[in-house]
Amino acid sequence: MRSAAVLLAITLASSLAAAPQPAKPAQSRGDIELPPLSYVCPMAGDEEVIEDKAGRCRKCGMDLVPIRLDSVWTCATRPLLVVASKPGTCPVDGTPLVQVTAAVSWICKDKPSVTALEPGRCADGSAMVKQYAARAHGNHNPQHGGQFFMAADAWHHLEGTYLPTGVFRMHLYDDFTKPLQPRLVREMKATLVTKDPRTGKETSTPLVRNGRTLQARIGKVPLPAAMHAQVQFKADGPENRFDFTFETYSKEPIVPATPTMTMAGAAPMSSAGNPAVPAASAVGGEIPSGIDPALVQLPIPDTVPEMLAQLRTRTEQIRSFIDRGSFASIYVPAFQAKDLALALDDHKNELPAERRKIAEPAISKLVRSAYLLDAFGDIGNKQQISDAYMKFVEAAKDIQAAFPQ
Ligand SMILES: [Zn+2]
Ligand SMILES: [Zn+2]
Repeated sequence: MRSAAVLLAITLASSLAAAPQPAKPAQSRGDIELPPLSYVCPMAGDEEVIEDKAGRCRKCGMDLVPIRLDSVWTCATRPLLVVASKPGTCPVDGTPLVQVTAAVSWICKDKPSVTALEPGRCADGSAMVKQYAARAHGNHNPQHGGQFFMAADAWHHLEGTYLPTGVFRMHLYDDFTKPLQPRLVREMKATLVTKDPRTGKETSTPLVRNGRTLQARIGKVPLPAAMHAQVQFKADGPENRFDFTFETYSKEPIVPATPTMTMAGAAPMSSAGNPAVPAASAVGGEIPSGIDPALVQLPIPDTVPEMLAQLRTRTEQIRSFIDRGSFASIYVPAFQAKDLALALDDHKNELPAERRKIAEPAISKLVRSAYLLDAFGDIGNKQQISDAYMKFVEAAKDIQAAFPQ
């Protein structure tokens, strides 16, 4: 049953937009910790194809290629300039580090075009150098203090910000979370729809191009401010809806005028010469106290009552993210709930037959709706998210009823 549920979930996820790529636990090889080998499709657009074994891509049939993917912490505004294994503070701008998926490989300085999947020695006897490369869809973090979504075409990404000046500004990105070329921004058509909280009357404002962004002056509406954008990436392309809820005005991360670093890599960073930059020791430190507990992964507990209690907490955390409009964060508690449901699946044989009949389909349903929440959370359509959450809650209730508390 467990494998069936996982298979169903994977098939489902693959038919939807690419999900953030969770990194698997590192494997130990002697004294070196290596991220596990995965097999990915070299075809652009097939980034969500990640298999454990070599073979053909299930989408396009191309031969999969080996890769080591790692989930690392880095500065949101300067991806992979600084790489840490734990949450911390960006030594460049003092903002909390964000998690991204990166490809890890090793190179020799004299031959940087040749990459190896394991550390080794170069021709001159020196040790090969570890490097991190950005991965398409490896970074779903806002870059300007706003709300970040991926489009249903699994290529475009965008971020809505609501500035204290009453301007809504949309930042646009490609699949690597790089700002979209102005040529492509010019092809877009978008409107912003705001709703008067008292009368319910909707107002559409066209978004106009401002450099590489699109924006509209909507004035100051009461916070929390809910609005949505209707976006066409091409004149004849489909309309995409993105729902935003701003609890506060968006704040740009403050970047010092003279960044002191130009080197990529995981080397310790010096804060000398720039008193505004926090000490490098913050990188790799403990989880900052300000972090939302809903974003923290916990080990699966040993007993069924504890699993049920954690499942209740995760269900509430998802609801709170939906209420706050933090759609891009939903996947964290959703995937934790999915793992809890699969752990409970291992205990279903302890149930009497008639309860097992409730538990089995409920676990499948919860796993399925968790993947939907992840996919729809990335896309940012509130209606789809709410529908998936309704199914999730129904499944969670059945699970709670089937197992002894
Ligand atoms: Zn493919
Ligand atoms: Zn993406």
